[in-house]
Amino acid sequence: QASEVWIRLQKELPQWVEESRAQCGEGKVASYIPELAKAPHRALGIQIMNGSGASIAAGDAAIPFTMQSISKVFTLLLALMDNGEAAVFDKVGMEPTGDNFNSMLKLELVQPGIPFNPLINAGAIVISSLIAGARMEEKSDRVLQFFRKLAANDFLEVNEAVYQSEAASADLNRSMAYFLKDNGVLKGKVDEVLDVYFRHCSINVTCADLARMALVLAFDGTDPITGERHIPRRYVQIAKTFMVTCGMYNASGEFAIEVGMPAKSGVAGGILTLVPGRYGIGVVGPALNPKGNSIAGVDLLETLSQRLDWSLF
Ligand code: GLN
Repeated sequence: QASEVWIRLQKELPQWVEESRAQCGEGKVASYIPELAKAPHRALGIQIMNGSGASIAAGDAAIPFTMQSISKVFTLLLALMDNGEAAVFDKVGMEPTGDNFNSMLKLELVQPGIPFNPLINAGAIVISSLIAGARMEEKSDRVLQFFRKLAANDFLEVNEAVYQSEAASADLNRSMAYFLKDNGVLKGKVDEVLDVYFRHCSINVTCADLARMALVLAFDGTDPITGERHIPRRYVQIAKTFMVTCGMYNASGEFAIEVGMPAKSGVAGGILTLVPGRYGIGVVGPALNPKGNSIAGVDLLETLSQRLDWSLF
């Protein structure tokens, strides 16, 4: 028995996607990682999955793209499961920065020199250093296996071209990592930690994968389709709170007002979001607004939230 909302989505979602697609022209595909510049500028797609596993897709939901910063939510979860809360928050803070995702500004300003939160680049690089595993390959493999489990997709892989491109153009991330090493925050070999980070940012997904991963968060760590618990509830609570306060970079405040759903974006144009207890949602739209979020994707989520009353607030 489909709900009223579900029936409305089936009927109207394709139209809403086309309305938001008009925004693409105002946006820019990320090019600081050269390989990302190849993404289709006018693409916009969405997949919404409910707790029974039924889903509705519209637009270009099937195009593959790399997770980029969306992966940071899940490496945080794995690091929490590996180390516990105290050890993680010894090395990374809980506050939004108000700065760009790749800013180094506050690493020096505020003592003891730990990154403000785990969803900015500096914080996520520290999180990569906390993933358990004897060597870099083992850490990267554990991340990939964890993502595969959450997405219920054994075929998730690192996009080698994007990985190479990112590793070859990461001077800013490298300087941050060395800075953190000098601060005594980052343990281990800088190159290896960065490699774990570049690889998890470069994992290829579709909107369906994001929707399924988001569904696990929407159901507090349990995959509602299989009934399997993947993540302790407390850690999901932490991750979703970071998504609200920091998930859309320094546009998180505006997004909370206009959309009001926990979300995480990436520079490849993906957005992972959810309606608690109901839906997991994956969006892709590679053309970005000036703050680095999918311009048409944000517009589409504003439409959904406003028309379906999905704001948490
Ligand atoms: N891999 C990207 C970077 O480190 C992730 C950034 C993002 O998606 N905002 O720059």
